Amino acid sequence: MPIRLTYPKYSMKTIQHQFVEYIPEHIQEGILYISMPFATAVHKCVCGCATEVVTPLSPKDWQLTFDGKTVTLAPSIGNWKFKCRSHYWIKKSQVKFEKKHPDERAKNAAGKALKSKKSQLVAKIQTLNIFRPHKQGK
Ligand SMILES: [Zn+2]
Repeated sequence: MPIRLTYPKYSMKTIQHQFVEYIPEHIQEGILYISMPFATAVHKCVCGCATEVVTPLSPKDWQLTFDGKTVTLAPSIGNWKFKCRSHYWIKKSQVKFEKKHPDERAKNAAGKALKSKKSQLVAKIQTLNIFRPHKQGK
C-alpha cells in the first residue's frame, strides 16, 4: 500500500474545552476534556487520527491555563509514539502545528528529490524509502 503524505497542512484549528469530573468513555474529536479532580486533560489527536492523547497536569508534565474563555496547554504535544507523529501546541484554544517536525524535514527532502529528478517514479520510490518505518512486522 502506498504511503500517503497526509500530514495536515499547517492551518489553524480550534479546540473546544469541557471541564469534567471524569473523562468520558467516548471522547469527541476537537474537545479537550479537563478533569480537575484527576489533574488530567484528554483529547483526540488533532490530526484526525483519533488517537487519545492523555496529558497529565502537573509542574513536571503539562500546565493548563484557562483565561476564562480559552485554554492553553504547555509544553507542546508531541505524539511521537503514535503513527501520525504529529506535534502541535494548544494555545488559547488554537491548535498550532509545530513546523519543525522531523517528518516535515523528511517531506521537504522528498520534495527536493521530486524537483531534481525528472522521473516522478524515481521520486516516488525515494519518498517511500524515506517514509518506510525501519521496524515493521510482515
Ligand atoms: Zn494524530
